[in-house]
Amino acid sequence: MKYTANYIYTPEGFLANYLIETNEKGIITDFRPIAAGEDALFYEGILCPGFVNAHCHLELSALRGLVPEHTGMTGFAGQVVGKRKNISPAENETAIKKALEEMWESGTEAVGDICNEATTAPFKKAFPALFCYNFVEIFGMRENMADTIWEKGLALLPLFEGENQEINLTLHAPYSLSLALREKAKKYFLQSKNKVVSIHLLESKAERAIFEAKTGDFATFYQQIGIDFQGFPSSSPIEYVLFPFENAQNLLLVHNTEISEIEIDFIISHFANAFFCLCPRSNLFIHNTFPDISLFLKHKNRICLGTDSLASNHSLEMLAEIYAIQQRFPTINLHTLLTWLISNGAAALQQSHYLGHFEIGKNAGIIHIQEISHLSLTENSKAIRLV
Ligand SMILES: [Zn+2]
Repeated sequence: MKYTANYIYTPEGFLANYLIETNEKGIITDFRPIAAGEDALFYEGILCPGFVNAHCHLELSALRGLVPEHTGMTGFAGQVVGKRKNISPAENETAIKKALEEMWESGTEAVGDICNEATTAPFKKAFPALFCYNFVEIFGMRENMADTIWEKGLALLPLFEGENQEINLTLHAPYSLSLALREKAKKYFLQSKNKVVSIHLLESKAERAIFEAKTGDFATFYQQIGIDFQGFPSSSPIEYVLFPFENAQNLLLVHNTEISEIEIDFIISHFANAFFCLCPRSNLFIHNTFPDISLFLKHKNRICLGTDSLASNHSLEMLAEIYAIQQRFPTINLHTLLTWLISNGAAALQQSHYLGHFEIGKNAGIIHIQEISHLSLTENSKAIRLV
């Protein structure tokens, strides 16, 4: 099959009058300028490789439409725990399967997925076209539970093994990491710095308050669940949570809604393999906030994007994430936004060897973005999978 369009995405820029040729398995057999009069399927709009959703929680898919918006971090967590109790295993499984299919059809080629249980594992293995980086999450503030928590995480790892599946332990967030867990993390990640660790970071103002002043929503929350909280040994959530990691560690820092420019520069200068994953529609949903993307523009090659879960988003459509950014930051051009969505996401999940660009011999998917206007997205823009 031969495909062409007004614009074809490459990490270096858009190409016109180009074609992508694939065999019946979708593997690219040619990528070159189109010859005069040559026959190819023409698409109005953009053709690009598949998207990367660098942050999702597929295991929460059954919560779509059940959690109210703008409840804040601890309010949201409470809602998730409460609402999940009423969901049957069958409903859960149906929702996960549906989410995987929707994700794939709307152009996603790879996902960084947070896992606290093994429910999603069989469905991901049954869908090997979609690459999954399974981040088995470690969290807990009870010092005496650290061993049990760590063992539970380790026991989950092998359950995710399968075709096109990558797996690593990961830390949930600074405010959910006990000192004992942090010590365990330091030992463990020393041996696995070539793998990616995904951490929720500075998603809310409450995260600063608990570190700086031992007050706020998290202090109340710890009290409610019976944790004797004495304060963290650092006033910076970044310093605290990144303490276990060597400079070479591959990091995926998620949300960053409340991060400062100085902190961004600090992370970039200390961690050469750190990516910032922004989840703008989830931030709007939970906190009614939006990341200040202008702070990150110096480090454009370090930005990737995610949806977060269907508990805090209306869909897992990645194109909607960049449309939300375009509406608030109209000076960021569509090529840059697509680079965050495609090539940077592939790099953040260490899949650049086949994803993120069109290359002969590879299958990175072919996605058609339709209904664009003057190289900008419109409210009718849609991403359709061709390959
Ligand atoms: Zn998340």
